Amino acid sequence: MPKKFSGQTRRAMPKRKVAALRTPKVFASRCSRLQLTRMIEPPGDEYFVREALRHAQKAYEAGEVPVGAVVVREGRIIARAYNQVELLKDATAHAEMLALTQAEAAVGDWRLTDCDLYVTKEPCAMCAGAIVHVRLRRLIFGCADLRAGAAGSVINLLQLPSLNHRCDITSGVLENECAAILQDFFRKRRD
Ligand SMILES: [Zn+2]
Repeated sequence: MPKKFSGQTRRAMPKRKVAALRTPKVFASRCSRLQLTRMIEPPGDEYFVREALRHAQKAYEAGEVPVGAVVVREGRIIARAYNQVELLKDATAHAEMLALTQAEAAVGDWRLTDCDLYVTKEPCAMCAGAIVHVRLRRLIFGCADLRAGAAGSVINLLQLPSLNHRCDITSGVLENECAAILQDFFRKRRD
């Protein structure tokens, strides 16, 4: 027989149980305002580029060319990395390469077809090649690299008609902030 909560039954219930029935209030008290905001409005491109920027800052502090990257799957960050060429003494240790390798480990597959890469600077030819190999869904970057960018500036390796995979590109997200950290780094290095 289905339970009915008439006024009388409810009054007869212990106070603790009645409180538990008021789920929205209990729920709200257990979540921070930030968590609630994120549930209502999923984070956009700026949010994730800002996360990549935080990692670029780590590279800056370590004396590395300040580029940071994160990989996002189903709205969650599954990989974070920054440039570590000097630390690892490895010219392939770009933020994007490290982030993609981490993401492959997190997903358990080399295919990242439902993943998006957020990076502060336009990828080079090596990283663009890797992006095509892992069949990434989207690339979102901050500032363009007019000398070596392989996502449209010098060449666009991500959307070659002859390849079997093409990746969506969004550029210019937090462009000024992403460029500023690089300019600042190279200015200090020249001085
Ligand atoms: Zn690269």
